[in-house]
Amino acid sequence: MRVLLVGSGGREHAMATAIARSPLLDTLFIAPGNPGTAALGTNCDIRADDVPGLIALAQRERIDLVIPGPEAPLVAGIADACRQAGIACAGPTQAAAALEGSKTFTKEVCDAAGIPTARWARFDAAEPALDYVRRHGAPVVVKADGLAAGKGVVVALDLAQAEQAITDMMTEGTLGQAGQSVVIEDCLMGDEVSLFAFCAGETAVLIGAAQDHKRIGDNDTGPNTGGMGAVSPPAGFDRARQEAALDLLVRPMLREMARRDTPFTGIIFAGLMLTQDGPQLIEYNVRLGDPEAQALLIRLQSDLLAALAAVAAGQLEQTDIRFSTQASISVVMAARGYPGKPVTGGVIRNIDAANALPGVQVFQAGTKLDSHGEIVAAGGRVLSVCATGDTLEQARDRAYAAVKVIDWPDGIYRHDIGQRALAAQG
Ligand code: ATP
Repeated sequence: MRVLLVGSGGREHAMATAIARSPLLDTLFIAPGNPGTAALGTNCDIRADDVPGLIALAQRERIDLVIPGPEAPLVAGIADACRQAGIACAGPTQAAAALEGSKTFTKEVCDAAGIPTARWARFDAAEPALDYVRRHGAPVVVKADGLAAGKGVVVALDLAQAEQAITDMMTEGTLGQAGQSVVIEDCLMGDEVSLFAFCAGETAVLIGAAQDHKRIGDNDTGPNTGGMGAVSPPAGFDRARQEAALDLLVRPMLREMARRDTPFTGIIFAGLMLTQDGPQLIEYNVRLGDPEAQALLIRLQSDLLAALAAVAAGQLEQTDIRFSTQASISVVMAARGYPGKPVTGGVIRNIDAANALPGVQVFQAGTKLDSHGEIVAAGGRVLSVCATGDTLEQARDRAYAAVKVIDWPDGIYRHDIGQRALAAQG
């Protein structure tokens, strides 16, 4: 099979690593890829959201299957363009990708499908939104309706914070168009986990679960990031509970999407809160998470490419998903300054030495090769240092031993990835 994988992050490096192991693979192209994926296939300098450019590449290279990694190509309609060009694609149409692109749409689907989620209201003007939170009281969650790169959600612990968030988004326009409508939700309490499944039409096959760490600082302090690390599986959320959550939070959504004539094909990522009243849906994303994918995929024993080809063909019934029983962890190394302006250009050494440690795999994200062929930092999140272990503690110790081997003075990372899960294990 000739495959085009779209994206350039640690998630795509981990996906490319799993795909490269498949006996079904003939040739792998990655657009745009990174120095890590260059060792596994051919990188092509086309942006992940350049749908016409990606389709032209796929036609020129006679690609059999397009695999979108991030949301950008999906929201830009790559699955629809593939269908028009007669190329298989393991991702949802633009219409189905609205599950990630619009919070109102997701809430409406949840209500129609009877999926447990926080009580919500939507507002298109600031005054009624302010009125609502004053009557509701805190804590309360204020969300920009559109995509705001993780910056559109404020969990307001007091009323003043909620009022400020509404004024910023709706009156000051700090998030532009994305904040012109807001969704205000009840605040859910509990442990947050991410659940992943392959979907085609009304069929969902569980991939697994992970727990990420969103804040930049230890003990969940500082601003939100794209994710600073993840563990898999999360403590206390075993496969039986994951299957039950799939029945509760994903399969009814698939039926509702099919009923609306916008069936969902691809990977669903359900962000959920394990509340006292059971799991409740926080959000859907229409792709694997980063850095959750890295933690999940280093435990995967079955054939990722076969599963993604089955997704695209709508034939998930025979799909084989097997994981090792080990625990795994990913620790993100970011460039100093992230999530603000990262310091780029610093040389990174000893990735190979870290990779040689037992159970360790280092995936690259914001890296590039300089003119001397050295790997240098070129973005915010730069490496995900991953490890498996017989216990989460062993995986954690292996990953942090590998982090210490990497020689990159500008690298910053959290020191407590996995701590929450270890504490919950007791
Ligand atoms: P991202 O793109 O960063 O994943 P997003 O902008 O799509 O996020 P959400 O995932 O809906 O927004 O919310 C971001 C975070 O805010 C969640 O991961 C969760 O920690 C918190 N959150 C969202 N909704 C609620 C809620 N109703 N109750 C408690 N916490 C919430």
